[in-house]
Amino acid sequence: MLHTLRRIVQEVNSTRDLNRVLAIIVQRVKAAINADVCSVYLADEGAFTLLATDGLNVDLVGKVRLPPGSGLVGLVAQRTDPLNLDDAQEHPRFQLFTTLNEERFHGFVGIPITHHREVLGVLVAQSESRVRFSHDIVNFLVTIAAQLAGSIINAQATRQIDESEKSETKSTIPKKSPIRQDNRPLLGQPGSPGIAIGRAVSIATSIILESIPDRPIDDIDDEINVFHSALDSVRKDIKSLSYQLLADGLPTEDVAVFDAYLLMLDSSTLIDSTVERIKSGNWAAGALRETILEHIKLFGEMENPYLRERAKDIRDLGQCIFNQMQGINDLPLDKLSEKTIIVAEDISATLLADIEKTHISGIVLKRGSRTSHVAILARAMGIPTVVGVSELPVMQLDGSQLVADGYSGKLYISPTETIVKEYSRLICQEDELSEEISELNGLPATTTDGVNIPLYANTGLVADITPSKHSGAEGIGLYRTEYPFMIRQRFPGEEEQSKIYREVLQAFAPRPVVLRTLDIGGDKSLSYFPIEEDNPFLGWRGIRVTLDHPEIFMIQLRAMLIASEDLDNLNVLFPMISTITEVEDAIALLERAYRELLTEGYHIQMPKVGVMVEVPSLVFQIKRIASIVDFISIGTNDLIQYLMAVDRNNASVAELYESLHPAVLNAIKMVVDGSHEAGIPVSVCGEMAGDPMAALLLLGMSIDSLSTSVGSLPRVKWMIRKFSQQEAKELMEQALAMKDAYVIKQLLTKELEGKGLGGLIRAGR
Ligand code: PEP
Ligand code: MG
Repeated sequence: MLHTLRRIVQEVNSTRDLNRVLAIIVQRVKAAINADVCSVYLADEGAFTLLATDGLNVDLVGKVRLPPGSGLVGLVAQRTDPLNLDDAQEHPRFQLFTTLNEERFHGFVGIPITHHREVLGVLVAQSESRVRFSHDIVNFLVTIAAQLAGSIINAQATRQIDESEKSETKSTIPKKSPIRQDNRPLLGQPGSPGIAIGRAVSIATSIILESIPDRPIDDIDDEINVFHSALDSVRKDIKSLSYQLLADGLPTEDVAVFDAYLLMLDSSTLIDSTVERIKSGNWAAGALRETILEHIKLFGEMENPYLRERAKDIRDLGQCIFNQMQGINDLPLDKLSEKTIIVAEDISATLLADIEKTHISGIVLKRGSRTSHVAILARAMGIPTVVGVSELPVMQLDGSQLVADGYSGKLYISPTETIVKEYSRLICQEDELSEEISELNGLPATTTDGVNIPLYANTGLVADITPSKHSGAEGIGLYRTEYPFMIRQRFPGEEEQSKIYREVLQAFAPRPVVLRTLDIGGDKSLSYFPIEEDNPFLGWRGIRVTLDHPEIFMIQLRAMLIASEDLDNLNVLFPMISTITEVEDAIALLERAYRELLTEGYHIQMPKVGVMVEVPSLVFQIKRIASIVDFISIGTNDLIQYLMAVDRNNASVAELYESLHPAVLNAIKMVVDGSHEAGIPVSVCGEMAGDPMAALLLLGMSIDSLSTSVGSLPRVKWMIRKFSQQEAKELMEQALAMKDAYVIKQLLTKELEGKGLGGLIRAGR
């Protein structure tokens, strides 16, 4: 059964057309379970329309429509539970459609097709005999319905695009479709506030080998050429990379892996079997997938551990060839304009840094969440962004008209004129609002009762620090040092690093700059220092890596200290701390670096030292930790992920990632109170600090400062200047006693709207 299931899912996933998808489902499922009928009914404003059948009258496909709640199909949808009957006709809710030729069928099983708690449709199997379907069959149908829900959503979105393309070219009246005819948006997560209206430019980014579909081809020679020219390019890339690394001083044995890649690239088994597969009618990418997966399986099953390890190299190589064939990671700069919305599975921080040089109106990503690094960067760059749109048909969207709402996470594909008009109006209001907010640039973030909350900028994900300089920030509250490490082919040396750090320290002196030590691991990897783990966010990350590699850590600490010479505005921050010993060990290394540099003749001061509270264990040891450092910085991006057990990058659980959850608020309050009791300042440097609703509660907790993306700074300042700390404190106390984030959000929305600040949390003024 597992094999059949995989085959059906694979076939469906490689098909773009909704009708074809549904036809495959009913035909294959009917055959697999030996039923007399298999049909799919899809939801349409509460009603269910028969959209595919194998066994009933096909002339009625698209015509039989069951009103909401009617018939057995309606019952299955209402109960969201499988219904298995030996004689459907005996059931009081049975509705006979004689024109469907249903009289002969008695055995009935109906399975709801659900996606994110929404019933998309019902999969039905029927038999002539008066017997229930077996448990095995019901379980198989439940499994297949669960797997197919995503494919159906994808095909629905594609149909929406196709239909609007047709209606654009053939007629001004949109063709009536039973699906999403109300122009319902796809739902994602708000990534960066703002609204974007424009045409999609799809960017192919890394695609998992397994998900490359099969595709029939017209021109075999053409496909063979595509494959060979990809091989040539990869060969060239590998050669030049290996020369460069040797020139950079990497030992020959470390570069030897590239020779192994080159050998594999020339191996007749790889080339011949792929070409054979192309000749039998599959496109180059599909043929390559089959060959590479076959090799991976072969090597993965070998006894010899060395050979078993080579399975990974084969996968990497396959991925390189595929990326080359698809032009992956190339940014089509000539296609980008102010009316462009970039659409992709995911994009890297480096690609986004390239995008920064152009002017685009928005970004929409299939993966990620509010606190993914790409969303953080988009906020810093002020680009409206929607992330985590799990049903996004990335490549099919290329060229489509889109409206992306970065406040609510909604994405409208081929929107109606009314939607475009409404959002255009909101954009005008936003522009007015931004102008009003920008007037606050030179003013301090002071509450109406005179409390000043310094606002600092988070930076470091891109090389350029200019935006932070003009943001009105009173310093840098978090400089993520990973970027200079990520864009190189090896660890940057002391001199290289200190040059970069000096630039930031100098740009802001005498205002404070917090440099965070290297925080790799989790979702930030270095190509030259791969960390392979089953649970990277719970693994070797941040301080755990640097303490294990004092040689790397010492270079960085020395570089930071050297950079601060005669400036004295350096603060050093340690990430991913979970125990007191880690802090002690890190401070000991910093002190050693400091002493070394003094004896070498540098004029430096011992910087202030801080710890990030990102791991819940620290919340419960906060007083002890606070007694050995100079300041605390709460990294809410990770703290929420670890408190709520929600991967911050996983779109499927993004709804559970809630900064306003009472547990999160109570934890932050404990950290603030504990730090104050120990007599040291505490700041929030996670993205929560840039959310006006959350920042209002942080103000109420007597936070000492906030540090956030430059794009969010003016908005938070506007909020702070409209409230007194006393008001914020009362709201915070009410919120801490509430049941969940939903009611807390309602409370804060009302407050912000009441002060005329609604434009900070939704589209429009
Ligand atoms: C955090 O975790 O809140 C934080 C600021 O660090 P990063 O987003 O870089 O993990
Ligand atoms: Mg973090």
